[in-house]
Amino acid sequence: MPKWWEDEPIRFECQPDCFKCCMKPGVVTFDRGDIHEAAKFLEIKTSDFKRKFLKKEFGVYEMEMEDGQLCQFLTLQGCNIHPAKPKQCHTYPFWQENLRSRNHWQLVAGFCPGIGQGPVIPVEEIKQRLKDFKG
Ligand code: SF4
Ligand code: SF4
Repeated sequence: MPKWWEDEPIRFECQPDCFKCCMKPGVVTFDRGDIHEAAKFLEIKTSDFKRKFLKKEFGVYEMEMEDGQLCQFLTLQGCNIHPAKPKQCHTYPFWQENLRSRNHWQLVAGFCPGIGQGPVIPVEEIKQRLKDFKG
């Protein structure tokens, strides 16, 4: 059975100077590829990147933002590792948990002002983002 978002066009465009999703409490995970790309972008060793920015929880490297804490890569100009940001950030808001129903998507749209703006995102691109980040 097709997913609801395969039948209904979804518009999305990240809004300039928003950064709301980078200021939300929660966890950002980094897989091996994410660590490699971010460390390369910052021109540091992967071991230094892990030591400086991440902690390992149950075998997964992550950054945890508690309530009132900003992501350590967020600057006034935006994400400091934008071209090499992890898949979790790159694929937002096209996550399984957000797309599981039209109602869930509407709830996320209440938070993310980019939903409903800009171009229609092709179904293939949505599928790719869902594949890239399993949540
Ligand atoms: S909340 Fe939405 S519009 Fe705002 S920065 Fe995140 S993805 Fe972009
Ligand atoms: S890594 Fe970049 S995009 Fe991801 S939460 Fe931090 S500032 Fe935002």
